[in-house]
Amino acid sequence: MHETSLVIAMCTQIEEMVKAQNAQKVVSITVRVGEFSGVEEEAFSFAFEVYKKEHPLFKEAVLKLEKVPALKRCLNCGEEFSNFQQRVCPRCQKEEIIYTGGEELEIAKLELLVED
Ligand SMILES: [Zn+2]
Repeated sequence: MHETSLVIAMCTQIEEMVKAQNAQKVVSITVRVGEFSGVEEEAFSFAFEVYKKEHPLFKEAVLKLEKVPALKRCLNCGEEFSNFQQRVCPRCQKEEIIYTGGEELEIAKLELLVED
């Protein structure tokens, strides 16, 4: 499963941060998931639940997923919209449209427990 390797990659990255900050455990992880990232939220959460059980650092961690919608932006007037059937800008009717966002899979927030 694609999501399993994504979870492992993410948690490996987090482990580095935990070590760097001398933290005891991970409290919560907020991940931004783009509409076009190809990540299935349910599969991602499930893969994390599996990972948690085998990694004490993550045992009590809560995973929160934030969906990031993809947008289209007009290069002419800067208007942003999310209707993908729309081929021209709803404001100025020009056709110079680019996609912005929606492909991200990134850690937005990480809460660690640090005790002295
Ligand atoms: Zn426009």
